[in-house]
Amino acid sequence: MKEIKIEQCPYCGGTDFIKGYGVQAISGSSKVANSWNLSNLVYTVCKDCGSIVHTQVEKLDRLISSQQELEFE
Ligand SMILES: [Zn+2]
Repeated sequence: MKEIKIEQCPYCGGTDFIKGYGVQAISGSSKVANSWNLSNLVYTVCKDCGSIVHTQVEKLDRLISSQQELEFE
């Protein structure tokens, strides 16, 4: 997985960021409602204005494999 470097907040121009972690139901396919998984999300939060400037799925491999399983159904 490529690493994304965020240098500046697009909302306030701040350059200080902190990481936040959360869990959210996420699925490889929006068509299949009963296939929701819980994925860890990593948020990059601007320290100056509190905006979430970036959200990333921590276990990308798991999400990709869950999507591939659905496609073969
Ligand atoms: Zn900001």
